[in-house]
Amino acid sequence: MEVAISSALLARIRAEAASSRDEICGLLFGALDRIDAAEPCRNVAADPRRRFEIESVALLAAHRAARAGGPRLVGCYHSHPSGDAIPSARDAADAEPNGWLWLIVGAGGARLFRTVQGGALHGRFDEVIASQR
Ligand SMILES: [Zn+2]
Repeated sequence: MEVAISSALLARIRAEAASSRDEICGLLFGALDRIDAAEPCRNVAADPRRRFEIESVALLAAHRAARAGGPRLVGCYHSHPSGDAIPSARDAADAEPNGWLWLIVGAGGARLFRTVQGGALHGRFDEVIASQR
């Protein structure tokens, strides 16, 4: 399945990643086959150069807003400042197999994955095609 994302939104996330030596992170909103919006979040990981952890207050607020009829939370994004745009073993350990989209920005650009049970990568992620609109 393809997931549509606007090239402007993708460019914004890539610029955010390029501006930081730490991993940047945020939340993605839209539908199962479409990313409509992204919200940058604070990376509260103890070692933000090598890990990311989205601030729980931002996550809770997004869930609450979605329940109240706001944009649907469909995934997250983060960067690998000195690595490839593929999920690490650490990412796989942190990811729930809940169908979330994970957008990763790294060397060579941005790639998109979905968290699934028994995925092709680390048993947790399947890559999906991001079609730019
Ligand atoms: Zn990662």
